[in-house]
Amino acid sequence: MKFINSDLEKNAVVQRIELPGLADYKNVFIKREDLIHPEISGNKWRKLKYNLLEAERLQKKTLLTFGGAYSNHIYSVAAAGKEYGFKTIGFIRGEAYNPLNPTLSFAEANGMELRYLNRADYKNINSINFQNDIIKQFNDAYLIPEGGSNSLAVKGCAEIINDIEIEFDYICCACGTGGTLAGITAGLKNTRNSIGFSILKGGGFLKEDVKNLIKNYNGKEFNNWDIILDYHFGGYAKINYELINFIGDFEKTNKIQLDPVYTGKMFFGIRDLIIKGYFKKHDKIIAVHTGGIQGIEGMKNKIKKILASHLSVS
Ligand SMILES: *Cc1c(COP(=O)(O)O)cnc(C)c1O
Repeated sequence: MKFINSDLEKNAVVQRIELPGLADYKNVFIKREDLIHPEISGNKWRKLKYNLLEAERLQKKTLLTFGGAYSNHIYSVAAAGKEYGFKTIGFIRGEAYNPLNPTLSFAEANGMELRYLNRADYKNINSINFQNDIIKQFNDAYLIPEGGSNSLAVKGCAEIINDIEIEFDYICCACGTGGTLAGITAGLKNTRNSIGFSILKGGGFLKEDVKNLIKNYNGKEFNNWDIILDYHFGGYAKINYELINFIGDFEKTNKIQLDPVYTGKMFFGIRDLIIKGYFKKHDKIIAVHTGGIQGIEGMKNKIKKILASHLSVS
């Protein structure tokens, strides 16, 4: 395998930003994890790094993983497999796509073999028996769980805070499986606070998952973190006009693109919590841009429809 170039992580600079309508708030910053790598973007780089090294150490030839049809994780694993010389297999939730959507067609173009699991079977993907079966079936493959969240991912994400040079009170990230929040929290070692924003409806279970991910990683429990459950916009990949409009305003103000599935919802939530007084004016907040820009292409039609229907009613 090619040496994993950790110098890329230096691209993840911290910049001051302005939240739309809150020009007076000068203490909000963004950490540009989205700039680490053009394809293995943001937190997916952090989550895969030590897994790739471990797969190499174990002399595995194949990476096997799971995800939804628009998953940033699937996209990143495919790109990583191509760059670092692994065969990749992606088990996709749901029926086969024909034609492939932009995420899956990128994955296939990068050499990923796509398999489909119906929704009932997909529910089993975390069962040990099921995993052992498919690992055997695919020549002793290296298995990466859905969203990439295992202890090695937590280890990689703990490094997100390493090179932050400014003082801060809060660090925020979007939560899908909670691996990123677990890593950031483990990295903080009970100093300052980390806040996750669930992008799933009913994401309360994430609190237990994050606690367990931290425990499995370093055996510790921390209490300087929380998960905000109010900014899922109806659930995974659900969006509305208010969110699209906010993302547009944010991009105009800061010249930084957000994705509608994760980072758009997090920044919307941060802005709303500032307005509601949860964060105070003197609090220094760093929000992690975890990437995910590839997902916009697959949402374009949905976005167009929402914008069109807004225009027709207003
Ligand atoms: C995968 C992803 C997340 C969620 O990370 P978890 O570790 O699963 O909570 C957040 N933001 C983006 C852009 C992602 O692609």
